[in-house]
Amino acid sequence: MATFDELLDANGSVYGALPAESDHQCPNCGHRTLRMVFTTPPGAGHGYVSFWCDTCLEGIHVSRAPVPAGVTALSTAAPIEERTRGIPNYRLVT
Ligand SMILES: [Zn+2]
Repeated sequence: MATFDELLDANGSVYGALPAESDHQCPNCGHRTLRMVFTTPPGAGHGYVSFWCDTCLEGIHVSRAPVPAGVTALSTAAPIEERTRGIPNYRLVT
């Protein structure tokens, strides 16, 4: 099982590649299926990041992350079904 620090390292690699998609390997299962979604208050340039692996469904939350140029963020003001669209119920590693 990957540790929070390993996931945070992977998070940094995927984040650094934005707005391009990253093929960084999941530190837990090795698949290149890491996903990152930003959720921000309306008009804010930063928000929190949902970061998970679509294969093993493990991930982390990161707070107050700036949204890189070219990345579309979900709005915290949107209804819950819109805010969580595309984000699976993954296991949070802490
Ligand atoms: Zn994985």
